[in-house]
Amino acid sequence: MSSLYGYAGKILYVDLDSRRIRKEPLGEELVRNYIGSIGINSKLAYDLIAPGIDPLSPENYLIFGTGPLGGTVAPGCSRSDVTSKSPLTNLFGSANSGDSIALMLKFAGYDHLVISGRAETPVYLKVNDDDVEICDASYLWGKDVWETTDILWAELGGDYWVNCIGTAGENLVRYAASVTNKHSFYSRTGMGTVMGSKNLKAIAARGSKGVAVADQKAFLKIVDEIVEKIKNSPATQLWRDLGFVVAFPAYSEYGLFERYNYAEGFSDLVKDFSKEDYKGHVVKRNYACPSCPVGCRQVVEIKDGTYPGLNYRVAALGSQVGYHNQAGVENWDELVRCVELENRYGIDSNSLAGCVGFAIELYKRGIITKHDTDGMELDWGGETTQGLIEKIVRREGIGDILANGVKAAAAKFGPEAERLAGHIKGLEMALGVRGRLSTENFGEFTNPRGGHLERSPSLTFIPRKPKAFPPFSRGIGVPEDRIEKVCDGPEGFNVSRLTKWVEDYNTVLVSMGVCHRTPITQHLNLKIITELYRATTGIDIETTELRQAGERIWNLQRAFNQREGADRKDDMPPWRALNESITIGDKDYPPITEKKANKLLDEYYDERGWNIKDGTISKEKLDELGLTHIASDLG
Ligand code: SF4
Repeated sequence: MSSLYGYAGKILYVDLDSRRIRKEPLGEELVRNYIGSIGINSKLAYDLIAPGIDPLSPENYLIFGTGPLGGTVAPGCSRSDVTSKSPLTNLFGSANSGDSIALMLKFAGYDHLVISGRAETPVYLKVNDDDVEICDASYLWGKDVWETTDILWAELGGDYWVNCIGTAGENLVRYAASVTNKHSFYSRTGMGTVMGSKNLKAIAARGSKGVAVADQKAFLKIVDEIVEKIKNSPATQLWRDLGFVVAFPAYSEYGLFERYNYAEGFSDLVKDFSKEDYKGHVVKRNYACPSCPVGCRQVVEIKDGTYPGLNYRVAALGSQVGYHNQAGVENWDELVRCVELENRYGIDSNSLAGCVGFAIELYKRGIITKHDTDGMELDWGGETTQGLIEKIVRREGIGDILANGVKAAAAKFGPEAERLAGHIKGLEMALGVRGRLSTENFGEFTNPRGGHLERSPSLTFIPRKPKAFPPFSRGIGVPEDRIEKVCDGPEGFNVSRLTKWVEDYNTVLVSMGVCHRTPITQHLNLKIITELYRATTGIDIETTELRQAGERIWNLQRAFNQREGADRKDDMPPWRALNESITIGDKDYPPITEKKANKLLDEYYDERGWNIKDGTISKEKLDELGLTHIASDLG
């Protein structure tokens, strides 16, 4: 690149078969078209990963990346992504995390790290600025995440950041996570599993290089304005006090939470998971990701109760309420014990809770019996959940089946089980989709990763006055000639059409390295982000060009899936959501029905300019995004 402002300027390639290490400059075209982090990761994944390969074979690639704002003092900009072909969904896989190894890799001089092949014996990758080494890790194999991290810190020094897998990744549980410094998770779609398949136990990195900013004066002016707004916002204090728990009442009231394997709605979550217990009994204090004035992460420290002595850091304790929702875990004490196990073993909480809840329901319905569970009685709550976690991470007995995810387990247990499987594209869902529809839960249908909400957060999460939506839509880049259709409907928006624009906008933010949580995003819009990007990189770019980059990245992820054979059928919600109604408080929500789901998807594809019949990307859209060259890949 001619200018290195905002970027470290290099991609580090490590091939574990040949043990060859090479560094290549970050191309200007990559930056202009794909921004950074998940954007450039997606482009590299599309180009490098051949369609049809087994995600656990040496032919798969594992790609870490951070964005141009990562490592600067821009608030909430330490997020990064790891991308691969997912062993859980067999489609595009990616996981996002704050305060994680890709950020330290940038300080060492690398915007992206691309790992290929498979080591013959366990290894770890050591990066110390320009020195990159593949080291023996056989003595670490068998250790959990906390033990591995402590050993590497003791050997290398605490100024190294350590990202590693635990028991789940080693045993190729298909939704294993990789974890940085014991507390920052790349959780979803099995990125830790791909690490395990490569015999890569850990990455330890130490970087001493800063990030140069092109126009310091302009950059600091924008940063100061955002920081001032963050400091004075009521949302900041709420998130500091309660983290994700702040969203519990709305999530349950509007039906985004469902319980007992997505069988029921509920509105009484705060009774057993009170904010008073959260603050007084569970969470000792908060901490922040680098460069973030919010500080919404938690230090858990339990002094009494069922599990005295629990003590660890966690990024979003409230989001792990999935253990309650899907598996019936009863209270904070049981939940934080599940989270401790998840942290030690390195595994994704959403998929884990989904698999456990699924098994319990099958047992209660008699679809599986003690014969399938090695004599274990399955019931809702902490005891069964913790028992099944131990079996899953070691692939023991029924754990060996559940370790492959709900979709694969359902195929094994037969058609009745398949109707109860709560997943989209093979990824266990984070939110229910029968209650009030917002871009958050409709986005689970269309996310290339499968049933997860993170790519489509917006103002729609709680009801607002309809007049709020035109200015919001303009702010995220919806063109004037689309506003009327996007902001149409009794609540002030058309959920399918708005989701398209929210996804593209959030893809820009994620590619920059921006945190998706409300205390950060509520102070941003496409204009501010464009100005920040210009000041950081010196690249003269318009809002429309950045918005189109977000759309290009989204389409390339869709193309990755289309190349693997995915189409409209893979965007449909699960059988249960299409066929069973749900009651939340005193309100009944009917099933979505196939007819309604199809209508929603028709509108979404229309807004995206895709082929409505099958949801494939149209030739015209590929041409518009400069992706004509991939048309022949897509048939
Ligand atoms: S808002 Fe919370 S999760 Fe996001 S960057 Fe700040 S501390 Fe980290």
